[in-house]
Amino acid sequence: MADIIKLLPDHVANQIAAGEVVQRPASVVKELMENAIDAGASTIKLIIKDGGKTLIQVVDDGMGMSETDARLSFERHATSKITSAQDLFNLHTKGFRGEALASIAAIAHVDMQTRKEDSEVGVQIKIEGSKIVSQDVVVTPKGTSISVKNLFFNIPARRNFLKSHQVELRHITDEFHRVALVHPNIEFHFYNNGSELFNLPKTRHRQRIAHIFGNRMEDRLVPVNEETEVVKISGFVCKPEFAKKSRGEQFFFANDRFIKSPYLHHAVTAAFEGLIKPEMYPGYFLYLEVDPSSIDINIHPTKTEVKFDDENTLYAILRSTVKHSLGQFNVAPVLDFEH
Ligand code: ADP
Ligand code: MG
Repeated sequence: MADIIKLLPDHVANQIAAGEVVQRPASVVKELMENAIDAGASTIKLIIKDGGKTLIQVVDDGMGMSETDARLSFERHATSKITSAQDLFNLHTKGFRGEALASIAAIAHVDMQTRKEDSEVGVQIKIEGSKIVSQDVVVTPKGTSISVKNLFFNIPARRNFLKSHQVELRHITDEFHRVALVHPNIEFHFYNNGSELFNLPKTRHRQRIAHIFGNRMEDRLVPVNEETEVVKISGFVCKPEFAKKSRGEQFFFANDRFIKSPYLHHAVTAAFEGLIKPEMYPGYFLYLEVDPSSIDINIHPTKTEVKFDDENTLYAILRSTVKHSLGQFNVAPVLDFEH
């Protein structure tokens, strides 16, 4: 009998991987914005049309790419961010898997323009379904601009699964918030269909939160600060009287990365015990810093689920720190007059 196993061609492998990395326009936004941050950008522009279904463009003023790097950036497992398995335990960048651009280019029409500061001209590469369709020399500002059109053009099932412009815009806005909240020192602009939704100047965490969620937010925030051997915690919780019946603003960041953690959420909620009704959700913006070797962010391609080495200790520290902050700021129980 003849052998039947074949290695898949790259463009097929890329398309399969893309299914994991790119669920919807918001996933593209996240990956492109993270790349801009890793490139050291000080200003990032996000431009979308029709909830990202017609256009997603991210423009940065970061380090840009050489011609060779620009071509290579679309290859799978091509990354400038790690070189060995050892580096996985000491990550200081958002990206490291080297598969975002390859995945996006496999399932969309991508137009990249990039220039390094010390090059006189830049390069423009157009790539569609993993195939480079043109490459030109261009005059372009320092940094990188990547625009993504016709997302899922070759995966009709995914394309049809996309929700209304409004819903996709909401997902994109969520990703935008998550990134902007970690990087108050970066200026962000966000346009949808030509109108500016956010214009966030460089500032500090507290003001960035207020710029995003409204100035009223500033008076609601109680600072949280703690430093132990295991973790450094900073950020804010919202005063108990502003707890909501539905999920509102709940943000955990670990080493500058937005993460989802039902377990740590529980720790914060537990700190509010007696101050809010059990069915209410407290708001929080909590930034955790742990030793990069004690956190595994490689368990899923989108990296929002992470694994901490010592979750139980983290839980205990978080709960007591938040409790302490609430006590220090004389936050009175509101259960009696809240109906
Ligand atoms: P990863 O971020 O995991 O390395 P990506 O596929 O997102 O993988 O990007 C591949 C490579 O392309 C990056 O490692 C980086 O060298 C380069 N790159 C991507 N986006 C940018 C950008 N906006 N500015 C400069 N370099 C970039
Ligand atoms: Mg990346």
